[in-house]
Amino acid sequence: MDTFSLLSSLRNTSGDTEFYLPTPPGYQPGRTKYVVVVGTVMSGLGKGIFASSLAKCLQDKRLSVAPIKLEGYLNIDSGTLNPYRHGEVFVLDDGTECDMDLGTYERALDQNLTRLNFCTSGQIYRRVLDRERTGGYLGRDVQMIPHVTGEVKNRLRELAVASMADVVFVEIGGTVGDVENAYYIEAMRELAFEEGPNNVCFVALTYVMEPATLGEQKSKAAQLGIRSLMQCGVQPHIIACRAKNPVTQKVREKIALYSNVPPDRVFSMHDCDTVYAIPEMLRGAGVDQAVIDWLELHPRIDEESERRARDVWTQYVNHLRHAKRQVTIGITGKYTTVRDAYASIIKSLEHSGVALGCNVEMRWIDAGDLDDSTVEAALRGIDGLIIPGAFGTRGAAGKIACLRYSRENRLPCLGICYGFQMAVIEFARNVCGMDDANSTEIDTECRYPVISLLPEQRKIEGLGGSLRVGGHDVAITPSTLAAEMFGEKARLRFRHRYEVDPQYIQRLEAGGLVFSGRSPRADIMQILELPQTVHPFFMGTQAHPELTSRPLRPAPMFLGLVHAALRRVDASTPPHVDFSPAPIEQPAARKAEQVR
Ligand code: GLN
Repeated sequence: MDTFSLLSSLRNTSGDTEFYLPTPPGYQPGRTKYVVVVGTVMSGLGKGIFASSLAKCLQDKRLSVAPIKLEGYLNIDSGTLNPYRHGEVFVLDDGTECDMDLGTYERALDQNLTRLNFCTSGQIYRRVLDRERTGGYLGRDVQMIPHVTGEVKNRLRELAVASMADVVFVEIGGTVGDVENAYYIEAMRELAFEEGPNNVCFVALTYVMEPATLGEQKSKAAQLGIRSLMQCGVQPHIIACRAKNPVTQKVREKIALYSNVPPDRVFSMHDCDTVYAIPEMLRGAGVDQAVIDWLELHPRIDEESERRARDVWTQYVNHLRHAKRQVTIGITGKYTTVRDAYASIIKSLEHSGVALGCNVEMRWIDAGDLDDSTVEAALRGIDGLIIPGAFGTRGAAGKIACLRYSRENRLPCLGICYGFQMAVIEFARNVCGMDDANSTEIDTECRYPVISLLPEQRKIEGLGGSLRVGGHDVAITPSTLAAEMFGEKARLRFRHRYEVDPQYIQRLEAGGLVFSGRSPRADIMQILELPQTVHPFFMGTQAHPELTSRPLRPAPMFLGLVHAALRRVDASTPPHVDFSPAPIEQPAARKAEQVR
């Protein structure tokens, strides 16, 4: 009898066992395997990128994978986190506000994720406390072990059942030794015990230092980091060593010696020129093979599919490395020094650059103190402009000055969410003669509140909830640039509270602004543009198109912007861009699309 069935039967016979196995209906032990990635030594090693690249390697073999990020913090989701401290808030189609790592997974796997793929301590504790209040623990004191850890395992098994994945890919946030994630590691130890041998593979990501003063690699911190993990009762099966340079045989042997991991499963994951090269680096080193071996997944893999997926990816990396042309895109924003706050925008520009064969250089523009007299100098040398999302009032005037300059000087421009709202204000003020037009987010007393809270949002506001988040359909106006991009309908993701006030729509349209995307059900404006007879590319959207850009399927609005920028610097660029290029065939891409 396997361990899982044995433990379950104990519960069934005596009713009074120390084992606690809440398990979702339909769970088949052994059907789904688990890869658990933990970080040691320090944060910032690129654990998310490493884990998503490894997950991609498995997906390329036509294994279906379902990633889950376990966050240590007590927030229920990432909705209230400051992007300045934590990186951007990523939004899933189902409205989940989550860690930016989920964006990394969606892009790497070309797969839409759901709330099941994101777990915080807040969610776990909330469930445990709710269960306690509804009498779910029947006379027992509720403990970290087994109840809280039981709930963590339950979450993973729920994902296994819902996704029917071959492999659930677990990334534990933080670093071994953090108080916040200690119970996650304990839960994983229990998981490995319950699921039985060869059903859970532990991958420890560690760091090998190379102090400049010594000029050689030192393994002590890595040894101690792995030792801490082993003190938690977790024996890693694979160790990946992050380092500046390839990790030497000697250092890998030393780490192997101290960690009971054979040296051929201690891998060097040294820096490389682009994150897109990491899957190939993992394959080259044999990390994916080591996972397959440990989990005995050989019968489920498809080598032909892997070969094709590799070709596609290699082609992508080659395009990226050998781009001949270059454009510079300016990005205005509040968090000008923290790039993580704009991770998805940066990625979207990369995707479009690869598709168009150019390198996209980004220039950060502090809109804070710009006005009509200084904007020209600030925007000199850029070929296109992005005004990204934001909250509050800071930089609004500078952004409006940038939008005016772009509109009047035919500089390609994309306004995203707040940027869209600022474009409406600029147009109202400078074209439609509504001098005091504004957003009620900025000035509640303004004469023309062209951007304001919609009645339905006001209701939500009153209840203390807040944003309109998640994927919504957008109905596209025929014969517009948006129609060239999306056809009749688009699906975009949103995260906002304010909207164009419908009472000003007619006046704005009379001035020449085209609303080319609307909510199919309500009078909510979602996309604006200027006719191409007037401007080569001037577009805004209330949505966040950066959240749905994928390496092989760049978001059309970014493609349009970069293309227009390219035409500005290189007149030989063809006038039309193919917004839905025949997708490069990606065999395993959508196998693991998940049910909610
Ligand atoms: N602050 C604006 C709103 O709430 C824009 C939000 C955003 O840019 N994400 O509507």
